[in-house]
Amino acid sequence: MGNQRSSIDIVNNNKGKKRLKNKKRPKMIEQDPSERIKNFAEVSLGLTEEMVELETQRCLQCENPLCVAGCPVNIKIPQFIKLLKEKKYIKALYKIKTDNLLPAICGRVCPQEIQCEQACILNKLGEPIAIGQLERFIADWERKNNLKECPECAVPKGIKVGVIGAGPAGLACAGELAMNGYDVTVFEAFHMGGGVLSYGIPQFRLPKEIIKSEIETLEMLNVKFEYNVIIGKTLTIEDLKEMGFKAFFIGVGAGLPMLLKIPGINLNGVLSANEFLTRSNLMKAFRFPDYDTPVKVGKIVTVIGGGNTALDSARTALRLGAEKVNIVYRRSESEMPARKEEYHHAVEEGIQFQFLTNPVRFIGDKNDHVSKMEVIKMKLGEPDDSGRRRPIKIEGSEYLIETDTIIIGIGTSANPILTKSIPELKLNKWGYIETDENGQTNLEGIFAGGDIVTGAATVITAMGAGKKAAHAINNYLQEKTIN
Ligand SMILES: Cc1cc2nc3c(=O)[nH]c(=O)nc-3n(C[C@H](O)[C@H](O)[C@H](O)COP(=O)(O)OP(=O)(O)OC[C@H]3O[C@@H](n4cnc5c(N)ncnc54)[C@H](O)[C@@H]3O)c2cc1C
Repeated sequence: MGNQRSSIDIVNNNKGKKRLKNKKRPKMIEQDPSERIKNFAEVSLGLTEEMVELETQRCLQCENPLCVAGCPVNIKIPQFIKLLKEKKYIKALYKIKTDNLLPAICGRVCPQEIQCEQACILNKLGEPIAIGQLERFIADWERKNNLKECPECAVPKGIKVGVIGAGPAGLACAGELAMNGYDVTVFEAFHMGGGVLSYGIPQFRLPKEIIKSEIETLEMLNVKFEYNVIIGKTLTIEDLKEMGFKAFFIGVGAGLPMLLKIPGINLNGVLSANEFLTRSNLMKAFRFPDYDTPVKVGKIVTVIGGGNTALDSARTALRLGAEKVNIVYRRSESEMPARKEEYHHAVEEGIQFQFLTNPVRFIGDKNDHVSKMEVIKMKLGEPDDSGRRRPIKIEGSEYLIETDTIIIGIGTSANPILTKSIPELKLNKWGYIETDENGQTNLEGIFAGGDIVTGAATVITAMGAGKKAAHAINNYLQEKTIN
């Protein structure tokens, strides 16, 4: 903080070019790594009001703001930052919430470094504006002050729309439809909303109270939630049509864990990251013994994968008492899909990374419990379909790793429960729903978005898809009413 300046941020140098006086953004306050590995409290503690004041002064208020285009839900970033700078906090909240009803969540988990902040013009002069941290600040300020601002809703239309899945895609779609005056019910398989936000992302990154609070905003917009309802099992789309629903949004995510097809996969002590994280987050193993649903964690935990799921599993295992946690990833550090900040935090916490390494087989002890893992070294070849360089085995480089718990976090795929119940719904070869760019499926009145369309992506892209589909649903229902 000491080197932050509050004077004019941009000056002209003698060649007439613009130069930024204060190139650095504030560093968020964080729990010390040696302390935080012993608890599940949030790692990042946000910005102080003073830091926010200084950071808002760095925003250039661009006439053609690239940051807005970089945000999948197009939050009016310069306008909300200006309002923050003027200390018009309530107005700043409104400005964000008309485009994004989940600011405290997005401020915490969005990969801003590859979205709005990557597009920020200040990257050319120094560090980009800390947009995510400012978004988080204002959302937290609202909660701390027991306020609950929510945008205006249009006059109720009395038309029922069903949203399937209470993840970011479903929540964004529901909020947008409710603001347009529709009578929206969200059907969710679990006992609580949030999707991956609740069952995947750990408390130390995104406290459950925050998800609950942001879902309350939707409830204030009169969105109804029906929990413990699996569409495709408990009820079908046909049942919902009979109950008077006129259009549907499917946002069921891609929650089916991918497993490795290698020897030893069925040994005790080998878990999917989904199971491990769900047991900790939703079944509250992280609060054992207050909740009598613990999850067993060994002394040496090996996590396979390089995305947020792998990192969340590793850091959860550490907090649950593992003595050593290794991440084994088949590509190199620069190809890791995890958020940069989470990687940085994991390294600080002592998680060890073995890059360019891939499992070959898991080896069990006499009780069929995993005790070792054989791995092989990899090198990078030409780029594959994902644009990243393809990992290639280095023959003869196999070696053994000691381990007593293996968590597989290599990705997820489409869960077929809902899609199987609608056989005429068009899917691609991987089981994801095919839609046009507005989320329209091949079936009239049925729209879809989020991970069930794109495959595993991000919170904000799922929200963007939910919002887009809400507009398409609005157009569809308006046309239907006119005809
Ligand atoms: C561990 C982990 C960490 C992640 N970290 C980040 C991160 O830091 N930042 C980021 O941007 N992204 C992150 N992601 C990715 C992000 O969470 C997802 O891309 C996003 O949640 C997808 O949203 P969605 O609404 O499409 O699906 P989901 O979040 O999966 O929600 C789908 C919901 O539908 C419900 N459902 C499924 N089937 C049915 C049915 N038949 N009937 C009723 N309900 C049903 C599910 O229970 C679930 O609640 C992470 C993912 C994981 C797994």
